Amino acid sequence: MNQIAGLGTVLGVWAHPDDEAYLSGGLMALARDAGSRVVCVTATHGERGTTDPERWPADRLAEQRAVELRDCLDVLGVTEHHWLGYRDGECDRVPPGEAVARIAELIDAVRPDTVVTFGPDGQTGHPDHQAVGRWTAAAVDRAAPARTRLLQSAITGDWARQWRIVNDRFDVFVPGYPVVRRESELALHLTLDPVTLSRKVKALAAQASQTAGLIATMGADQYAAWVADEAFVAAEPAPLICERCWWDHENARWRCAGTPAASLR
Ligand SMILES: [Zn+2]
Repeated sequence: MNQIAGLGTVLGVWAHPDDEAYLSGGLMALARDAGSRVVCVTATHGERGTTDPERWPADRLAEQRAVELRDCLDVLGVTEHHWLGYRDGECDRVPPGEAVARIAELIDAVRPDTVVTFGPDGQTGHPDHQAVGRWTAAAVDRAAPARTRLLQSAITGDWARQWRIVNDRFDVFVPGYPVVRRESELALHLTLDPVTLSRKVKALAAQASQTAGLIATMGADQYAAWVADEAFVAAEPAPLICERCWWDHENARWRCAGTPAASLR
């Protein structure tokens, strides 16, 4: 609990509704219980997150997922939420300077002590996750005071081994992922207590469009065990990026169309 109170004000920045709960639902609930302010940001409405787009056209699913996210955050005690309003599956096409400026504005307004988001791997390898992780690291670098901690969600080798069959069965990861980290690399590793875990499961269950099938197939107990761990590494310093920077996919680095010396390090 001391570790949690020490996080201070927490700002979470995620790509789709449900990312926040899967990767930091326990952290958010415990931080709220400790009396901390928690602000959650979601880049897209996850409007393409369906295998049945005829029944769930994008507009309808976006509305549904907004309702589900609100219910989920209610369970976790999180009352402050912002949308960035980008399109699901297209985050890596958003001009990064714009997205970074939007997140930097929120950092300016919230003054978080801790920012939680994806690492460069995007946890599952999803390009939206990777884009949001990059934007957030750059925004922290631009806008946050030096004391601000940037925690990036991580996967341990133990967890990946323990859940390999389940993860493969449900296609959780893009081929080539996850990137696993050693326990000694982690800055924060939560194994949720039973009460917090059941609250996290309830929060995830509120996002039924994404979780109902999975919970039914896995069974409640296995599903709970699967989401009981939340691991984070402390981020490496991000490159300073400017309005004219762009992400070079091929070489996996920022490049600048302006004055490189001023914008990259
Ligand atoms: Zn996601």
